[in-house]
Amino acid sequence: MTALQEERTTDDLRALAERAGRELEDATALEILQWAAKTFGDRFCVTSSMEDAVVAHLASRALPGVDVVFLDTGYHFPETIGTRDAVEAVMDVNVITLTPRRTVAEQDAEYGPRLHERDPDLCCALRKVKPLEEGLKGYQAWATGLRRDESETRANTPVVGWDEKRGKVKISPIAKWSQEDVQTYVTEHGVLTNPLLTDGYASVGCAPCTRRVLEGEDARAGRWAGRSKTECGLHG
Ligand code: SF4
Repeated sequence: MTALQEERTTDDLRALAERAGRELEDATALEILQWAAKTFGDRFCVTSSMEDAVVAHLASRALPGVDVVFLDTGYHFPETIGTRDAVEAVMDVNVITLTPRRTVAEQDAEYGPRLHERDPDLCCALRKVKPLEEGLKGYQAWATGLRRDESETRANTPVVGWDEKRGKVKISPIAKWSQEDVQTYVTEHGVLTNPLLTDGYASVGCAPCTRRVLEGEDARAGRWAGRSKTECGLHG
């Protein structure tokens, strides 16, 4: 970490995010990540749900050995854990797995079984939001794979924005990409993807809260299906 990176205040970071959001709107995903690598160095990480490794792959081109943060909620499909292990084995990245304070068994004992059915917001808060908050503490900036075309709630995602809740710069380098752009990148670069994507799932989250999508549904329709919930709280 450079002295300049060390000295930045929250106001500096917010101003940096707002300016970069305007200036990088037309930049490519790789250019955005190269800016992030240069600006934040090792105080920058990528978060990945291991639905695919597109952003991790792009980031590793901009910053070899980049930290890739994965939240292991204890409820993942085995295919997701397998994708995480494969990414760790073959890509030039440093995978960091965050775990919630309580195991699923401990949560069941304290809150009762299947909290995800009764109070998914609390379950996500305990198993995703809190661990990520703690895991991101040492970073000034984090990158996500959010895309504007995924759902209405993501339609205004900036390529670089300010994460007020965490006091960090939030980078969404593929915000402007379509599903077709993702597929093209995956094919051209042989990027690892979660096998569930070829088994009817369009978006992959925790097993109890994810189903296959039906024809004509948007990519996130299979998440918390039948509930008003559309986001886990990581991006709110
Ligand atoms: S997605 Fe479902 S199982 Fe996973 S943390 Fe949220 S409520 Fe719990």
